[in-house]
Amino acid sequence: MPKEKFCLDHPQESLVGELDFSGNPMNERVVAAARLKGFSAIGRLKKNGYYALRCLSCFEIVRARHSVVLHCQPTCKSCLAGKHRNAAKAAGLQLLRRDPDNRQHAFFLAACGHVIRREFDLVQRTARGEAGVRCETCLAEEHRTTAEARGWDLIGPDTEDRINYRLYRHQSCGAEQSVAMANMQSGRFGCSTCGTAWPASRSALYVMQFELKGNVSAIKLGFSRDPQSRLTYQLLSGVETTGKLLRVVEMQTGATAIRTEKALHKRIATEMPDALLPQRLFQGQIRVRSELYYQAALPLINQLLDELEPAA
Ligand SMILES: [Zn+2]
Ligand SMILES: [Zn+2]
Ligand SMILES: [Zn+2]
Repeated sequence: MPKEKFCLDHPQESLVGELDFSGNPMNERVVAAARLKGFSAIGRLKKNGYYALRCLSCFEIVRARHSVVLHCQPTCKSCLAGKHRNAAKAAGLQLLRRDPDNRQHAFFLAACGHVIRREFDLVQRTARGEAGVRCETCLAEEHRTTAEARGWDLIGPDTEDRINYRLYRHQSCGAEQSVAMANMQSGRFGCSTCGTAWPASRSALYVMQFELKGNVSAIKLGFSRDPQSRLTYQLLSGVETTGKLLRVVEMQTGATAIRTEKALHKRIATEMPDALLPQRLFQGQIRVRSELYYQAALPLINQLLDELEPAA
């Protein structure tokens, strides 16, 4: 008797020849029910109550108990495998193999090249655009890089198993601390051991460079309590533009930062009246409304910041 084996790895595998037909006449109700459910009943099996059915979509032979044919929907595993393969494709994955330990799960090849294990249901929802499938290896790498940029090493899961938290080690003092991942991203937290945090009262001037469409480089001069966070989580959030932080000049207070920034824009307007980038060149590419300069303004901006740096 052939085993109830999933045909994914052998889609052409036919069970004909291995079927043990009883030769008894088929029940007409079963034949009619099978037809309504996409199968053609081809005979009764010696195993009591079992029928052999042919899937009308893919011609695979399927065995089903007569009660299943009458009252439920027999499944063609070959068609189901095709459905899973297509859903995976639509979700940007490649179905590799089923998980032998759990029939709801399978292994998929993600676009990044890592193999991930996911529930079919999640893959189907992703294919419909209702869910997302993120590679945990890449995600962990991203978290590690984010933490490193802030001077912390990612150690592992939160000690209290909170899903949005991770355990980190502060590079400068060695203390371990759980931090919400969102806070690690935005930098809105401090080390509870050495107390190092970005003081709320402090601020900084920054210079950023953006690569816009049409090969235009743009320079932004502004102020922020946390320039790196401003760049990543505000200016470039949800857009395709790339950008980098060129320079940060710390300011003692937010008020000094605002005052100095205003004065600098005024100086640039006087000394280089054509430096402002027209809005149409960056509209929709970066989440900012004003004060982007042509790349040509960078030497002047750097010079102005040099003049100020010793005092700041
Ligand atoms: Zn089928
Ligand atoms: Zn990956
Ligand atoms: Zn510390």
